[in-house]
Parts: sequence; C-alpha cells; structure tokens
Amino acid sequence: MFSTDHVFQRLALSPFRQRFHLGPREYLYCQTKGPDTLSQHAADFIARRLAPAEPEHDGKQTPMRGHPVFIAQHATATCCRGCLEKWHQIPAHAEMTKMQQDYAVAVIMRWLNLEMQRPAPATKPQKLQQKRPAKPDEAQQLDLL
Ligand SMILES: [Zn+2]
Repeated sequence: MFSTDHVFQRLALSPFRQRFHLGPREYLYCQTKGPDTLSQHAADFIARRLAPAEPEHDGKQTPMRGHPVFIAQHATATCCRGCLEKWHQIPAHAEMTKMQQDYAVAVIMRWLNLEMQRPAPATKPQKLQQKRPAKPDEAQQLDLL
C-alpha cells in the first residue's frame, strides 16, 4: 500500500482516471446520505466484491454507474484486483486484509470528498454548443415575432 497522497498524485497524471466524475444523481446521493453511510457502502462493496482471494467476475465486478462509490472506484483504481495490485501494491490472489480494505475505503472517501468540493454537476447533459453558427439569413427567417 502507498500513502493516499502518493496515490492521488499518480492518479492526477492519468487521463483515464481523471475522466471519472460524479453525475448529478450521484452527487445528490452523496449530499443526501452523508459520509458515514457512504463509507459503510464502500466498506461493504470492498468486502463483498474485492476482498476475496479470487473475487467473482474480477475485472468486471464494479459497474460504471449506479452508485457514487462505483465511480470513485474507477477514478481511484480500486475497481478490481488487477488495478489494486498495479496502482496500490495490494497483491492479487490473496484475501485482502482488514488494513488493506480500510485503506481502499479511505482512498474512495478521499476522492468522493474532493468531488463534493466541486460545483454540483448540471442536471441535463450539456451538449456542446459549438455547432456551426446559423447563417445570418437563416436566423432572420426564424425571427418571426
Ligand atoms: Zn480495475
């Protein structure tokens, strides 16, 4: 295991990991549930989906949406045993210790906390407004009133 500071410095350099953010629903869920419930959920997901020596469907056990902790797991490379080994030096094919599980929860909670410092995401997916501008003629034809 590394220090969480060290891990976050490395995650910041990964365009893939940096892509993940909470959507409006997950953001609201975090606001409603609060840190205690979220860390319980994180501990539960880790214990059930990651901690066994050979987790079921390893590499695919963490959905891409549906719970803020899932997104946090992809963002922090705590999504599967392969990523845990590569990014966090938690060896695969061995049951995770309590300390390793607590560490993974701490990483997830740190990410969620950072994410909640950001402004709430827009409720509608924002489409890029950079389509070619309407030609002046067309714009005038639409201006009926
Ligand atoms: Zn993974």
